[in-house]
Amino acid sequence: MTVHIHPSVDSGVKQGTGNFAGGTLVCKCQDKPVKVGIKGDVAHNHACGCTQCWKPEGATFAVIAVVPRDNVTVLENGDKLRVIDASATIQRHACKVCGAHMYGRIENKGHPFYGLDFIHPELFTEGGSAAPGFAAFVSSVIESGVEPSELPAIRSRLKELGLEPYDCLSPALMDHIAAHVAKSRPKAA
Ligand SMILES: [Zn+2]
Ligand SMILES: [Zn+2]
Repeated sequence: MTVHIHPSVDSGVKQGTGNFAGGTLVCKCQDKPVKVGIKGDVAHNHACGCTQCWKPEGATFAVIAVVPRDNVTVLENGDKLRVIDASATIQRHACKVCGAHMYGRIENKGHPFYGLDFIHPELFTEGGSAAPGFAAFVSSVIESGVEPSELPAIRSRLKELGLEPYDCLSPALMDHIAAHVAKSRPKAA
Protein backbone atom coordinates (compact mmCIF):
# COMPACT_ATOMS: atom_id res chain seq x y z
CA MET A 1 0.00 0.00 0.00
CA THR A 2 1.32 3.42 -0.92
CA VAL A 3 0.84 6.04 1.74
CA HIS A 4 0.17 9.49 0.34
CA ILE A 5 0.98 12.40 2.61
CA HIS A 6 1.05 15.45 0.33
CA PRO A 7 2.21 15.83 -3.30
CA SER A 8 5.07 18.16 -2.29
CA VAL A 9 6.67 15.56 0.02
CA ASP A 10 5.55 12.18 -1.38
CA SER A 11 8.74 11.78 -3.42
CA GLY A 12 10.94 13.08 -0.58
CA VAL A 13 11.20 16.33 1.33
CA LYS A 14 13.05 18.99 -0.65
CA GLN A 15 15.29 20.94 1.69
CA GLY A 16 15.22 24.74 1.50
CA THR A 17 18.18 26.79 0.35
CA GLY A 18 18.50 28.43 3.76
CA ASN A 19 18.51 31.89 2.19
CA PHE A 20 15.09 32.11 0.53
CA ALA A 21 14.40 35.80 -0.01
CA GLY A 22 10.64 35.44 -0.40
CA GLY A 23 8.36 35.00 -3.38
CA THR A 24 4.85 35.01 -4.71
CA LEU A 25 2.02 32.68 -3.71
CA VAL A 26 -0.33 32.07 -6.64
CA CYS A 27 -3.75 30.40 -6.36
CA LYS A 28 -4.87 27.57 -8.67
CA CYS A 29 -6.95 29.73 -11.05
CA GLN A 30 -5.83 29.81 -14.68
CA ASP A 31 -7.70 33.08 -15.15
CA LYS A 32 -6.83 36.08 -12.96
CA PRO A 33 -5.08 34.16 -10.17
CA VAL A 34 -4.78 35.72 -6.75
CA LYS A 35 -1.15 36.62 -6.05
CA VAL A 36 0.24 37.24 -2.59
CA GLY A 37 3.77 38.50 -2.05
CA ILE A 38 5.82 37.09 0.84
CA LYS A 39 8.98 38.76 2.09
CA GLY A 40 11.64 36.44 3.44
CA ASP A 41 11.61 32.75 4.30
CA VAL A 42 8.90 30.76 6.07
CA ALA A 43 9.22 29.29 9.58
CA HIS A 44 7.81 26.22 11.35
CA ASN A 45 6.88 24.62 8.04
CA HIS A 46 5.04 21.36 8.69
CA ALA A 47 2.55 18.81 7.48
CA CYS A 48 -0.81 19.32 9.22
CA GLY A 49 -3.55 16.73 9.59
CA CYS A 50 -6.22 19.01 11.02
CA THR A 51 -9.55 19.46 9.26
CA GLN A 52 -9.21 23.26 8.89
CA CYS A 53 -6.07 23.63 6.77
CA TRP A 54 -6.43 23.68 3.01
CA LYS A 55 -5.20 20.57 1.21
CA PRO A 56 -4.81 20.02 -2.50
CA GLU A 57 -6.97 17.33 -4.14
CA GLY A 58 -6.18 13.86 -2.80
CA ALA A 59 -3.73 14.97 -0.08
CA THR A 60 -4.04 13.52 3.43
CA PHE A 61 -2.13 16.40 5.01
CA ALA A 62 -1.77 20.10 4.38
CA VAL A 63 1.68 21.67 4.26
CA ILE A 64 1.65 24.94 6.15
CA ALA A 65 4.17 27.43 7.54
CA VAL A 66 4.19 30.83 9.20
CA VAL A 67 5.57 34.24 8.23
CA PRO A 68 5.36 37.59 10.05
CA ARG A 69 2.07 39.24 9.02
CA ASP A 70 3.90 42.40 7.96
CA ASN A 71 5.69 40.30 5.32
CA VAL A 72 2.41 39.42 3.57
CA THR A 73 0.99 41.64 0.79
CA VAL A 74 -1.89 40.90 -1.57
CA LEU A 75 -0.51 41.82 -4.99
CA GLU A 76 -3.18 40.91 -7.54
CA ASN A 77 -6.87 39.96 -7.72
CA GLY A 78 -7.47 40.42 -4.01
CA ASP A 79 -11.17 40.93 -4.82
CA LYS A 80 -11.38 37.15 -5.27
CA LEU A 81 -10.46 36.55 -1.62
CA ARG A 82 -13.00 35.79 1.08
CA VAL A 83 -12.67 34.79 4.72
CA ILE A 84 -13.80 31.17 5.13
CA ASP A 85 -15.07 31.62 8.70
CA ALA A 86 -14.86 35.04 10.30
CA SER A 87 -15.49 33.54 13.76
CA ALA A 88 -12.52 31.13 13.55
CA THR A 89 -9.31 31.92 15.45
CA ILE A 90 -7.38 31.82 12.20
CA GLN A 91 -9.14 33.80 9.50
CA ARG A 92 -8.37 31.92 6.33
CA HIS A 93 -8.38 34.16 3.29
CA ALA A 94 -9.21 31.87 0.39
CA CYS A 95 -9.79 32.29 -3.34
CA LYS A 96 -13.54 32.25 -3.98
CA VAL A 97 -13.05 30.47 -7.31
CA CYS A 98 -10.43 27.72 -6.82
CA GLY A 99 -10.64 27.45 -3.03
CA ALA A 100 -6.90 27.76 -2.34
CA HIS A 101 -6.15 29.33 1.03
CA MET A 102 -3.77 32.23 0.42
CA TYR A 103 -3.10 33.27 4.02
CA GLY A 104 -4.56 32.65 7.46
CA ARG A 105 -4.47 35.57 9.88
CA ILE A 106 -5.06 35.83 13.63
CA GLU A 107 -6.75 39.09 14.64
CA ASN A 108 -6.89 38.33 18.39
CA LYS A 109 -3.94 40.26 19.86
CA GLY A 110 -3.92 37.98 22.91
CA HIS A 111 -3.32 34.82 20.88
CA PRO A 112 0.11 33.14 21.22
CA PHE A 113 0.54 33.24 17.42
CA TYR A 114 -0.69 36.81 16.93
CA GLY A 115 1.58 38.52 14.42
CA LEU A 116 2.12 35.41 12.32
CA ASP A 117 0.22 34.50 9.17
CA PHE A 118 -0.20 30.90 8.03
CA ILE A 119 0.64 30.18 4.39
CA HIS A 120 1.01 27.18 2.08
CA PRO A 121 4.56 27.18 0.63
CA GLU A 122 3.49 24.84 -2.23
CA LEU A 123 1.79 27.90 -3.76
CA PHE A 124 5.14 29.69 -4.19
CA THR A 125 6.12 30.07 -7.82
CA GLU A 126 9.74 30.01 -6.60
CA GLY A 127 11.46 26.99 -5.04
CA GLY A 128 13.84 27.02 -2.09
CA SER A 129 11.72 28.02 0.91
CA ALA A 130 12.36 26.22 4.20
CA ALA A 131 11.22 22.59 4.07
CA PRO A 132 8.61 21.02 6.34
CA GLY A 133 10.20 19.69 9.53
CA PHE A 134 7.48 17.82 11.41
CA ALA A 135 3.87 16.67 11.18
CA ALA A 136 1.17 18.14 13.45
CA PHE A 137 -2.31 16.91 14.40
CA VAL A 138 -1.61 13.53 12.83
CA SER A 139 -4.47 11.68 14.57
CA SER A 140 -6.90 14.32 13.25
CA VAL A 141 -6.72 12.84 9.73
CA ILE A 142 -9.19 10.27 11.09
CA GLU A 143 -11.72 13.13 11.33
CA SER A 144 -11.30 13.63 7.58
CA GLY A 145 -12.18 10.02 6.85
CA VAL A 146 -8.88 8.14 7.15
CA GLU A 147 -9.34 4.71 8.75
CA PRO A 148 -7.71 4.50 12.20
CA SER A 149 -6.05 1.26 11.06
CA GLU A 150 -4.03 3.29 8.49
CA LEU A 151 -2.41 5.48 11.14
CA PRO A 152 0.57 3.22 11.92
CA ALA A 153 1.56 3.21 8.21
CA ILE A 154 1.04 6.98 7.99
CA ARG A 155 3.18 7.60 11.10
CA SER A 156 5.98 5.37 9.84
CA ARG A 157 5.94 7.08 6.41
CA LEU A 158 6.11 10.50 8.12
CA LYS A 159 9.12 9.32 10.15
CA GLU A 160 10.75 7.95 7.01
CA LEU A 161 10.33 11.39 5.41
CA GLY A 162 11.90 13.03 8.48
CA LEU A 163 8.58 14.56 9.53
CA GLU A 164 8.30 13.53 13.17
CA PRO A 165 4.59 12.91 13.82
CA TYR A 166 2.83 14.71 16.70
CA ASP A 167 -0.84 14.63 17.61
CA CYS A 168 -0.76 18.31 18.58
CA LEU A 169 1.90 20.83 17.52
CA SER A 170 5.66 20.27 17.80
CA PRO A 171 7.26 20.55 21.27
CA ALA A 172 8.77 23.95 20.30
CA LEU A 173 5.36 25.36 19.41
CA MET A 174 3.62 23.78 22.42
CA ASP A 175 6.30 25.37 24.64
CA HIS A 176 5.69 28.71 22.93
CA ILE A 177 1.95 28.48 23.68
CA ALA A 178 2.51 27.42 27.30
CA ALA A 179 5.02 30.24 27.85
CA HIS A 180 2.49 32.73 26.47
CA VAL A 181 -0.21 31.39 28.80
CA ALA A 182 2.16 31.51 31.79
CA LYS A 183 3.14 35.13 31.00
CA SER A 184 -0.45 36.31 30.61
CA ARG A 185 -1.51 34.88 33.99
CA PRO A 186 -1.34 37.12 37.02
CA LYS A 187 1.60 36.11 39.23
CA ALA A 188 0.71 34.35 42.46
CA ALA A 189 1.46 36.52 45.52
ZN1 LIG B 1 -8.09 30.95 -7.39
ZN1 LIG C 1 -3.98 22.42 10.18
